[in-house]
Amino acid sequence: MSAPDNSITILKPTPVLEGAGVRLKRSFPVTGTDHLDPFLLFDDFSSPNPDDFRKGFPWHPHRGIETVTYLLAGVVNHRDSIGNAGAIGAGDAQWMTAGGGIMHEEMPDPRAGELLGFQLWVNLPAAEKLRAPRYQDIAAAQIPRISPDPGVTLRVIAGEAGGVRGPVTGISVGPTYLDVVLAPRAVMTHSLGNGDQTLAYLFRGEAAFRRNEPDPEAAVGEAALLVLPPGGPLQVRASERGARYLLISGKPLREPIARYGPLVMNTRSQIEEALRDLRNGTFIRNQPRDDQGSWYMGPRG
Ligand code: MN
Repeated sequence: MSAPDNSITILKPTPVLEGAGVRLKRSFPVTGTDHLDPFLLFDDFSSPNPDDFRKGFPWHPHRGIETVTYLLAGVVNHRDSIGNAGAIGAGDAQWMTAGGGIMHEEMPDPRAGELLGFQLWVNLPAAEKLRAPRYQDIAAAQIPRISPDPGVTLRVIAGEAGGVRGPVTGISVGPTYLDVVLAPRAVMTHSLGNGDQTLAYLFRGEAAFRRNEPDPEAAVGEAALLVLPPGGPLQVRASERGARYLLISGKPLREPIARYGPLVMNTRSQIEEALRDLRNGTFIRNQPRDDQGSWYMGPRG
């Protein structure tokens, strides 16, 4: 009998040029890590320099997934093929379920100065890949902020922490999405679903993550994505610098994945069908063909 594997995998984000020329930091997919079931991508598009993001993510399709945008500084303007248009501002979140197909654009506003934000892609189960699209636009004021322990403040975007539930509902993988701020030397203990895929994205400061007692010698500094072993409570101890991280978890789907940029299905033939729909102007159901032209796949395609 072998001991349970309590090891943590650390992915250092890689610089990537995305969209129409946005410089961002990608934790995955990268060579060696295609996905972390049920999660398909994690990007950090933060930059103090508007030249890094002003070109944005023009009109592009999604099918078979959800995209989750969380913004802490700056503004991202968006509009889509089902008639939504608006701006994501500091502290806001957007949980977009593409289902069978959506076209949208996501354009950071260079006039708003520094951008601090993240995008996560969540897979949909086979039975929901062609469902109707849905947006959950969550204003900063709707996200509960609690202080479960001394030196710990956190915002609950999805899932539950400290007896408080986040505003995002109806997501198949039962996600948790927390934004946790630790004062210097503060300790936070998370209880998480057994068997859930759990990720932590440390974007400020330094902290030690452990399934048992945190070992201060094992502290990790910004920026890093940690893939945490399943099961048991997770303890996080901030160093002298304090720490801020996103804690993200969800139930693995354990289904085949066929991906082509922003389209993620179960089989190659479903991807070919999506590409055929894009060529034929039938990607978005109940949408005039004229509204489906001149889309952009970007390097993700
Ligand atoms: Mn998109």
